[in-house]
Amino acid sequence: ADPLDVASLREDYPILEREFDGSRLVYLDNAATTQTPDQVVDAMSDYYRESNANVHRGIHHLSQEASILYEEAHDRVAEFIGGEGREEIIFTKNTTESENLLAYAWGLTELSPGDEVVLTEMEHHASLVTWQQIARRTGADVKYIQITDDGCLDMDHARDLVTDDTAIVSAVHVSNTLGTVNPVSELADLAHDHGAYAFIDGAQAVPTRPVDVQAIDADFYAFSGHKMAGPTGIGVLYGKKHLLEDLEPYLYGGGMIEKVTFEDSTWADLPWKFEPGTPPIAEAVGLEAAIDYLEDIGMDRVRAHEEELAGYAYDRLSEFDDIEVYGPEPGPDRGGLVSFNLESVHAHDLASIMNDHAVAIRAGDHCTQPLHDKLGVAASARASFYVYNTHEEVDALVEAIGGARELFA
Ligand code: PMP
Repeated sequence: ADPLDVASLREDYPILEREFDGSRLVYLDNAATTQTPDQVVDAMSDYYRESNANVHRGIHHLSQEASILYEEAHDRVAEFIGGEGREEIIFTKNTTESENLLAYAWGLTELSPGDEVVLTEMEHHASLVTWQQIARRTGADVKYIQITDDGCLDMDHARDLVTDDTAIVSAVHVSNTLGTVNPVSELADLAHDHGAYAFIDGAQAVPTRPVDVQAIDADFYAFSGHKMAGPTGIGVLYGKKHLLEDLEPYLYGGGMIEKVTFEDSTWADLPWKFEPGTPPIAEAVGLEAAIDYLEDIGMDRVRAHEEELAGYAYDRLSEFDDIEVYGPEPGPDRGGLVSFNLESVHAHDLASIMNDHAVAIRAGDHCTQPLHDKLGVAASARASFYVYNTHEEVDALVEAIGGARELFA
């Protein structure tokens, strides 16, 4: 893939011009939230200026227009991730809500004692805590596929763990802590061999690489708009149509019904039966604009840029004996983020010193506390990259770490 023209892409993001105490912002917290290009902000502001109304096909012009925009955004998302159509795309608030939707709609009613939910040791709390709680309420057990010393999934362990008792395998596509790219299609095959479902958390994958849910053969797949140049307030739950058809709704109210009497109610068609109340309309317009934006760049080129920067950061950080870098070596097993610790400096202190240089990184457990326990640390620092980041910004990160090292020496 041709390299990105980062200099001209950066013009789409006025926020990247910001300075703090005379230092130009170096934004390396993209795994938490990416910045939003003007194209997306403009699409949302045009929507509010010209087409704003409630959806659900009101009689008047604006409601018709808003409804069409909102419905078409589902088509666009389906096309982007290789789904069959809008019936398979449910808009939620974020990945977390998508996980909860499935866990409540399916897990709470279908799981029973003896059933097993198989997760990985690198799950985000969004899936780990959710399945833990649903398992507790249904009497199901939760099991974890171990990670190897180099931060990959131990697929031998996975093959031992997934049995005919497994009801669902829920795995993160790209780890938000280790950067590992998991063999999700192999995991889906393994689940299906035992009659189980495969749920994939794609929060870090859809923003950074081409994703085809049908090629993966995922039964369910979740991600968030705000990590892929889109707005906050919108997430996606993809589900195979025949599976969603059989599921009961999880939230009830207006917009999701077909017929209501004092005694009973019936449900609207997919996907509306899972989208009660006024949905995130402007956000759907913004998400569609973000998809247009990313496809204009080309997801192969986005991935190549991510891999290049993460590989460069990994190599530069690995030069130092006092820096421990987590996760697999650069290559196809690693996505665009790097978590690390500087010996004898707490990750929070490190992030705070970085912030003095206007270098924005994240420090903490990244919503993977059990994984950090396993790594033997309470927290780590994480630098994560997106289309507008440069090698110079990685250099600025390394230089700022040097400053921290001197300060604490
Ligand atoms: N899963 C993964 C792998 C993530 O990185 C995140 C965001 N940190 C989430 C789930 C949760 O996403 P959201 O906060 O948008 O619900």
